[in-house]
Amino acid sequence: MKDDNFLREMNARHLWHPMGHPGEAQVNAPKIIKSAEGVGITDIDGHRVIDAVGGLWCVNLGYSNDVVKQAISDQLFQLPYYSSFAGTTNPPAIEASYAVQDFFAEDGMTRVFFTSGGSDAVDTALRMARQYHRLRGEPTRTKFISLKKGYHGTHWGGASVNGNNRFRITYEPLLPGCYHLPSPYTYRNPFHETDPAKLAQNIAAAFEDEIAFQDPSTIAAFIMEPIQGAGGVIVPDPSFMKLMREVCDRHGILMISDEVICGFGRTGDWTGARHWGVKPDMMTIAKGITSGYFPVGGVLVGDKVADVFENAPAADGAIWTGYTYSAHPVGAAGVVACLSETLRLDTKTNAAARGTQLYEGVCKLAEKYDIIGDVRGGHGLMTGIELVSDRAAKTPMDNDTMKRIHQATYEAGTMVRLGAHNILMSPPLVISEAEVDQIIASLDAGFAAA
Ligand code: PMP
Repeated sequence: MKDDNFLREMNARHLWHPMGHPGEAQVNAPKIIKSAEGVGITDIDGHRVIDAVGGLWCVNLGYSNDVVKQAISDQLFQLPYYSSFAGTTNPPAIEASYAVQDFFAEDGMTRVFFTSGGSDAVDTALRMARQYHRLRGEPTRTKFISLKKGYHGTHWGGASVNGNNRFRITYEPLLPGCYHLPSPYTYRNPFHETDPAKLAQNIAAAFEDEIAFQDPSTIAAFIMEPIQGAGGVIVPDPSFMKLMREVCDRHGILMISDEVICGFGRTGDWTGARHWGVKPDMMTIAKGITSGYFPVGGVLVGDKVADVFENAPAADGAIWTGYTYSAHPVGAAGVVACLSETLRLDTKTNAAARGTQLYEGVCKLAEKYDIIGDVRGGHGLMTGIELVSDRAAKTPMDNDTMKRIHQATYEAGTMVRLGAHNILMSPPLVISEAEVDQIIASLDAGFAAA
């Protein structure tokens, strides 16, 4: 192993980081995480902190699940790779497909198409939505509608339905025919509506209005996260997803639930859609499917969509997209073990209890610190804290102060994530009560340093 200074220098010289300025590492060295255990990570200086980010909303089982590690490792020696393009398959991929459909049966999902991650899954789902309508004889249904503040990955399709202009403007023009509705974000919205149920109705009405304007015969699908994650942990009213489902149904529009973060227990239910009592037509999944131990994602399809594909003439029904690593045997072995561990540990139940504890703890901090403008969460282990420099004016907190709070929280024992002027948290779902208390104490120290 190279010495620490060498690592820092080589990182600054050669490694470009996603979502970061390539010159930044030269002036502001990133933390180099060397090892992890339980829900904690250790940097190269030997500083151990609780990982309240869960890697990147993905390490649901924590860092020490040996069952998943062993399954991945064994499979590496059995069959380290084979393609699943039409004509070949492999045993772990088949087992994983069974485990996945079993896990999502209550959501009505019966088929899975594996990808290498969430962005791939979103892109594939959008393609499948267009193809579904084409196969049904409605080839004009090509447009997509999504929510502002939504995050759906960074491929061209995902970026096009993304609802944060930071991820869009640099790379425009994006996919034509993508339209965005307001987010169910009570703290700031164009309707100045603070009642979440009324805001949900306003957005459903805006959805109807947009559909009428575009014409329903041109719209393929609506995609949303059940709880918006990267956009700031935006928890809608419990009625919201149902209302959007009803609008989709009225106009023959497919509903895609992007479960890349919400799936696998994070919301306190096994899926975000189930948490809100909704059955979508398709789902996109990734992250918690292997607890982040191996890159895997997928598109889930219910019978309504599957029947159209499976009964289509051979020339039309083929899925002309896919990845070298779709249904990768090592990843698939990880999926089988991870789903089995997720169910055995009943991580959703702990996520619900610890999520409430974290949310209530942060709400108490909001009584102490004026810089806390909004606290969002309380539905599983996703918590967002929006920081402001002026509570009455809701002025977003400046970057330097955000960085100072981040560093002070880290020094006090917890890694959190910054998303603009939000602190975002999504700790492993196996976190203990004492560890959640420790996160809250670290945040207290972080805010004191603002
Ligand atoms: N959809 C959602 C809801 C996500 O949160 C993410 C990643 N944070 C993605 C899609 C993209 O996934 P990936 O980074 O694995 O490509």
